[in-house]
Amino acid sequence: MSSGALHIDLDAIAANWRALDALTGCETAAVVKADGYGLDAARVARALARAGARRFFVAMAEEGAAVREALGPGPEICVFSGHMRGDTDMISDLALTPMVNSLDQLTRHFEALPGRPFGIQLDTGMNRLGMEWDEWAAVAAVALAERPVLVMSHLACADEPDHPMNAYQLDVFQQMTDGIAAPRSLAATGGILLGPQYHFDVTRPGIGLYGAAPFASARPVVQLDLPVVQIRALQEGEVVGYGNAWQAARPSRIATVAAGYADGLLRSLSGKATLWHGDTPCPLVGRVSMDLMTVDVTDLTEVPEALTLIGPHQGVDALAEVAGTIGYEVLTSLGARYARHYHSR
Ligand SMILES: *Cc1c(COP(=O)(O)O)cnc(C)c1O
Repeated sequence: MSSGALHIDLDAIAANWRALDALTGCETAAVVKADGYGLDAARVARALARAGARRFFVAMAEEGAAVREALGPGPEICVFSGHMRGDTDMISDLALTPMVNSLDQLTRHFEALPGRPFGIQLDTGMNRLGMEWDEWAAVAAVALAERPVLVMSHLACADEPDHPMNAYQLDVFQQMTDGIAAPRSLAATGGILLGPQYHFDVTRPGIGLYGAAPFASARPVVQLDLPVVQIRALQEGEVVGYGNAWQAARPSRIATVAAGYADGLLRSLSGKATLWHGDTPCPLVGRVSMDLMTVDVTDLTEVPEALTLIGPHQGVDALAEVAGTIGYEVLTSLGARYARHYHSR
């Protein structure tokens, strides 16, 4: 078998949810959009429901369907993109809760599904989703009379605690919502770490559950081991891979491992990443190709069966840094070809 082994620790995800929950005095929801940040929304949502999460967020109604199927009736499943045209049947049949983003969506929801749950998303300066000040001022009384389950907004710079945008958005959110009866939510993972003023009634962590920054004390969730297909000896001066991008400066042993950019291992890792055999670092040499990577294992004393790309010596964030991206992108890029092993007690 030549597929890589992707180990996903569901207990660690649950522990991270509990740790983030313990940082606040309010309800902690869970964001499982993009198939649970690439780790399988159904499995992740079930693990989090067992840990105590009662409210889940997805990006679009289709994702809500998978989560509803996994969780059954009961838990609230909120949809960030709101009530889009064509979503009504799904929202209704699967009891999803759209976070409506505009007067258009609000009207659609009230006309199509009167009396059915909804939330409101406000824009406090990110200019991505949600009603802006004027729109909200015009519809707030009508919308609030229908008792939204949540009124929320999203922070643009919460991973930078000193960024003035945080306090600015907090102030705008308070001005837009102070005095309303509906529960409020502003914080994702970064916002939780900014402190209690940002917590309101419900927090919405995503990335911290999956073990990545900005939740520095998160338990790691993912390990990725890649099988060695072949090992060859090179003489000094021989070259490796597409474009002859690497040349041996000494007699070398090169391992070919079975994963590449088609598995989400970004080509920008070429010539830069490190794989590990136990505690020994082995540099990736040459270019990442579609299905394969080449690794210098000259300094290993034994013949490796597999090398670790994500693990104790190099977490998701460290790998992201090498690739010039963020942990979110590394996780959501992990491909469909790995053999996935889910661990829970
Ligand atoms: C993705 C997202 C979250 C979760 O953010 P993390 O940084 O992953 O914790 C919360 N709220 C909204 C609106 C989002 O889009």
